[in-house]
Amino acid sequence: MYDFHVHSDFSMDCKYLMEEMVKGAIKNNMKSICFTDHVDYDVTVNKIDIDFRTHDYFKKVKQVKYKYKDHIEILAGVEIGMQPHLNKRYDKLISNNPFDFVLMSIHSIEGKDIHFDKFTHNKKPIDALIEYYEYLYQCVESFDNFDILGHIDYIDRYFEDDSSLPDFDEYEFIVRKILNLIIEKGKGIEINTAGKKYGLEYYHPKVEILNLYKALGGEILTIGSDAHSPEFIGYDYKFAEKLLRDVGFKYIYIYKERKKYPIHIA
Ligand SMILES: [Zn+2]
Ligand SMILES: [Zn+2]
Repeated sequence: MYDFHVHSDFSMDCKYLMEEMVKGAIKNNMKSICFTDHVDYDVTVNKIDIDFRTHDYFKKVKQVKYKYKDHIEILAGVEIGMQPHLNKRYDKLISNNPFDFVLMSIHSIEGKDIHFDKFTHNKKPIDALIEYYEYLYQCVESFDNFDILGHIDYIDRYFEDDSSLPDFDEYEFIVRKILNLIIEKGKGIEINTAGKKYGLEYYHPKVEILNLYKALGGEILTIGSDAHSPEFIGYDYKFAEKLLRDVGFKYIYIYKERKKYPIHIA
């Protein structure tokens, strides 16, 4: 099992040390994990940078990597919170550091944090969704230095009333545009099992999006739990694999030194 979305106390929203996360991963039978701690520039209305000291990060990864080398493989990635105007800053961060893997997510729209600044509130759900996906499209279009697009339908977590979510058909056209661009650029998407932790009935992305990705010729996928605590590492991994198999995927991918390797789904 290969969990490619794991946080540690290098992320502001996680209090567990890397070593505690590694112990949890070993306990949950992971073969490899990749830390993807947050770098989110220019967020909230106060334009804060949320990041970590990369020197300390790589030093710590190196320590646990060596200490637990007989039990698990540990990789060093990053989850960047993209906004189109930040592409040069992120490019610099990534070019200057030896990340194994770059997960690109969006957590903010025009500087407004989707969660903390209540992006979906007081909007018609379909308008919020279209605005979100248009923005996601611009992020993918404006940036190349990433491997995988994170939790595509993340916004679904933040509607006041889940039953108000429009049918996928109503905004399929824009998701299709994003997936086509991802495929054209040779990038991939993740299946993020944390959706269920946030009260949704599904993983990110929902099965309609996985089906569409497959139909459009998408092949590159990673599995990630988005764990912020040790016991959550590898959460629902086997179910995610089964879902991918049912949709028709034969491989997931892992990344080392920014190169991808296929792993046959068991
Ligand atoms: Zn995220
Ligand atoms: Zn995350």
